Amino acid sequence: MGTRRRLENQYRRFPWLTDIGGIKNAIGEMRGLGYPRQPRLNTASIGQEAEPLFDAPWFTKSIKEKILTHPDNRMEYPFSGERIFEEPLVGFVRGDDPLFQEFKRIIGPHHFTPAEIMAWQARNNGVAPPPAEDMSVVVFVMPITRKTKEENAAQQAWPSERWAQTRLLGEIFSQTVTREVVTFLMSKGVLAVSPDATPLFRKKHYPKVGWASPWSHRHIAYAAGLGTFGMHDFFITEKGCAHRMGSFVVNLRLEPDRQRPADIHAYCRQYQGRTCLKCARRCPVEAITLEHGHDKENCSKRIVRSLPYCNRNYHIFIYGCGLCSTGVPCESGIPDDLRANATQKPGDHSSDS
Ligand code: SF4
Ligand code: SF4
Repeated sequence: MGTRRRLENQYRRFPWLTDIGGIKNAIGEMRGLGYPRQPRLNTASIGQEAEPLFDAPWFTKSIKEKILTHPDNRMEYPFSGERIFEEPLVGFVRGDDPLFQEFKRIIGPHHFTPAEIMAWQARNNGVAPPPAEDMSVVVFVMPITRKTKEENAAQQAWPSERWAQTRLLGEIFSQTVTREVVTFLMSKGVLAVSPDATPLFRKKHYPKVGWASPWSHRHIAYAAGLGTFGMHDFFITEKGCAHRMGSFVVNLRLEPDRQRPADIHAYCRQYQGRTCLKCARRCPVEAITLEHGHDKENCSKRIVRSLPYCNRNYHIFIYGCGLCSTGVPCESGIPDDLRANATQKPGDHSSDS
């Protein structure tokens, strides 16, 4: 067999049948099915002095190390060995932050508060649900690599191959990271849950906002002060808007280390009165306009149509796009002329409310 043929065989031949990871991911995202069982709480360890000390710096350090060194933070053929993500940002939100009630109004009444999802986990483990003020949400933002961003920025119609792999393997990896941290905490007697990997995770359709998730990492990252939203609805951080995120709830009081900007669009040039709309020009279906902002329905339809394209060309079962988040001024950082709008740096606790 020739080298070319051998290499081609490393692709899945019938991804709509054989890419089990992709199919499970799609079902899980919509219907909350197919996730591994939740870890059990080690009740024998409850109340014992925690070792290590689970404070905010511990979470920041552990999550950064895990993401940078994890063997699953790797692309598949033909990019085998390349990293999917660079060093993450990590942030914290208090469980009783009033924004969680606001999210029920903005996103939909089905969006969990930390207390609601934690009550489910507590019930499953036969312990009393903790009060909201005794819990926190940990959120991390994993920036996509420069190679993947450059490759997608060169695309005009459909996502690039690295982008498609990142969309699928990156989502699975994000769940792996949260599951491993949650499992470790539960083994140490600390109640924790990752809401987007439970059977309760079901997307719902609302007339005003379209398909909406019951646990929005982006909104939680905003609450943690990690960034703000752009015209394209992606989340712009100090490492840009081309990333994927994860988050989980823990029964610990963790000190937030950033202050969120009051303006939810503080890092978007167009919203801040500069002429930009570069994201709108990148969109192949005009789903972003000055008049109506981001049209989620139009965008979703395009993304669904990318599934056969990725299947046929990249041999994986995934949909995606992200063209408007690459090749734009907010791709890899806060746009230069808006940096002054950035609030606190990590570790600065001076204006915690
Ligand atoms: S490309 Fe420009 S208008 Fe679009 S989200 Fe980024 S900064 Fe805002
Ligand atoms: S993600 Fe949606 S809005 Fe952005 S370019 Fe693709 S179709 Fe357009």
